[in-house]
Amino acid sequence: MADFEQIKGRLHHWYQANKRQLPWRETTDPYFIWLSEVILQQTRIDQGLAYFRRFTEHYPNVKLLANASEDEVLKLWQGLGYYSRARNLHQAAKTIAQQMNGNFPDTYNNIIALKGVGEYTAAAIASISFNLPHAVVDGNVFRVLARLFGIDTPIDSTAGKKLFGELAAELLDHHHPGLHNQAMMEFGALQCTPKNPNCTNCILNDCCIALQESKIDKLPVKQGKIKIRHRYFNYIVLTDDRHSYLQKRTGNDIWKNLFEFPLVEAGEKTEIDQVLKQLDQLGIPTESQILSVSNWQKQVLSHQHIHYRFIQLEQTSPKTDRSNLIRVDQKDIFKFAVPKPIEQKLAQLEWI
Ligand code: SF4
Repeated sequence: MADFEQIKGRLHHWYQANKRQLPWRETTDPYFIWLSEVILQQTRIDQGLAYFRRFTEHYPNVKLLANASEDEVLKLWQGLGYYSRARNLHQAAKTIAQQMNGNFPDTYNNIIALKGVGEYTAAAIASISFNLPHAVVDGNVFRVLARLFGIDTPIDSTAGKKLFGELAAELLDHHHPGLHNQAMMEFGALQCTPKNPNCTNCILNDCCIALQESKIDKLPVKQGKIKIRHRYFNYIVLTDDRHSYLQKRTGNDIWKNLFEFPLVEAGEKTEIDQVLKQLDQLGIPTESQILSVSNWQKQVLSHQHIHYRFIQLEQTSPKTDRSNLIRVDQKDIFKFAVPKPIEQKLAQLEWI
């Protein structure tokens, strides 16, 4: 069995030879490291790269991000999901700009105090930007550690989080914590992959317990059991003299502060008649003419499945009070930050 020093040495060597060339690896600026970490929690590297470039082009520094409007930040974030992360990013940028004179905090405790920054992101910024000895534990690191040391404690249990956190901290290279953390994550992403890792050509195959015990596809263990909530969204696409209507989502719910078509939410797949009866609450005449009704589709989120359809209506009677809706010229509708179901619908509508 190789000892910790040997494992670290091999990992660092492997990383230098195999790492992908990515813009956030050419800097230690904490603003860029932070942006990349928040974006990459949402997405694959290739897609994340486009978002990273978009954000850094629009906001080359934290003060410019802080000065942007939330609608603009959400529009740039559109398609990444988990919109609360974009709102938190923006809030944290304001804190740094207004309370810290634009200087990114340089201690772990001050970094983790920023809105939306958790242990993983704080450790990544602290180690990569400030060379502080904090180990990151993301999905890749969980997998590498679970397999290498043959640990079957569920990674999503309290005991598992503690155990893997301590092990990662023990293995950390205190002289080069940023390099070490990036090596661990990249090794998990490229070499010790979730499915079919290339163990024959692995620098750690002589000391990997999972390989020795033929447990690679059983590790890491997850207890799972997330209860999924099903919701049913009837979106009303109302057309009226080359205009349509949007509303802003408010309240503590998914897609907060994004825009959407007026919505009738139900606990199940209700009949159209039931939906139409509720239209007057939205300021839409119930006798509006139905042009089309789409099939049900599904947007899968981490804890919720959103079943949605679009009911396209044409205005046929005088307007009622619609003060909670925004009347939008159809050619301007792309300017609004919208969730994925609406984005896909807009791409299909012929009047765009
Ligand atoms: S031998 Fe296979 S399972 Fe073990 S660390 Fe290497 S790639 Fe991962």
